[in-house]
Amino acid sequence: MAPIVALAGGVGAARFLRGVVRAASPDDVVVIVNTGDDREFYGVHVSPDVDIVTYTLAGRVDSERGYGLDGDGFAVIDALAALGHETWFRLGDRDLATALHRTIRLREGAGLAAITDEIRRAFGVRPRILPMSEDPCPTFVELEGGRRVHFEEYLARDGAPDDVRAVDLSAARAACPAPGVLDALAAARVVLVCPSNPIVSIGPILAVGGVRDAVTASHAPVVAISPIIAGAPVKGPADRLLRGVGIEVSARGVASLYRGVVRGFVVDSRDADQAPAIEALGMRTTSTDTWMRDPDASTRLAGEVLDFAASLG
Ligand code: GDP
Repeated sequence: MAPIVALAGGVGAARFLRGVVRAASPDDVVVIVNTGDDREFYGVHVSPDVDIVTYTLAGRVDSERGYGLDGDGFAVIDALAALGHETWFRLGDRDLATALHRTIRLREGAGLAAITDEIRRAFGVRPRILPMSEDPCPTFVELEGGRRVHFEEYLARDGAPDDVRAVDLSAARAACPAPGVLDALAAARVVLVCPSNPIVSIGPILAVGGVRDAVTASHAPVVAISPIIAGAPVKGPADRLLRGVGIEVSARGVASLYRGVVRGFVVDSRDADQAPAIEALGMRTTSTDTWMRDPDASTRLAGEVLDFAASLG
């Protein structure tokens, strides 16, 4: 069967995807994940969003943090701190093993897509998980006074300050899609834009060479789910990043970024008054409770989103 293809960031996307794999057959799902957050820490290649999606779909994510592995220890990071290393990126011991494996395999000459596939199989995850690109695509955040930091430095080290002036996706723009990405989009029966950070999670995926065009050219219905509920993000710095690039912090603001790309937009019931303004952008809308407070809420939302997509068929 033609796949359900999802564009995904980290926590919001992973919560939604655990519903998609319950509402549809997991073998029919292909997830294209942002690698703009990837960075080397402690000598290993960390792919934060890819790992969040993998661990969540494996049922092994640390559900309190939303990332990392449930019950992981921090002996290595604590030992590194004692040796004088900066350890603001708190990688757990077994999480480090994932990144170490990725690094060893990259050094052996394997591609990031093949390695990502090895890891998801080792975790028993059935949906295919594709990095958006195998090329380095670091997202940089530009702050007041001309300071320029990698996205993980902005988020994890600096605590996501409010003085964002611009977001630099030029590396993603210069990158090629990973093997399988354009083929998956061409074959899709539906394309879902997960409730993820539109600027630093979905933005980089759409910036990768040929991806936006492949989504736009798709004959499949393309549906986005709002990451904004009652005018604010559920978690994370989407509000600061949206404001920083001059976009209103609202469902309508997010929809304006997806204009010309998505055919349908799922707005939270608490923002249903914005539906007419979003429809004026050339999208169909539906409203529902999009807060995924538990796995059942994710499954119900995923089912409603797939029904909505089918109605746009
Ligand atoms: P990150 O890279 O880990 O921050 O992950 P994402 O980019 O996937 O997710 C961040 C976005 O997910 C934020 O803007 C949140 O508002 C959104 N999000 C998280 N949980 C939920 C939820 O339960 N419902 C909705 N609608 N959005 C959510």
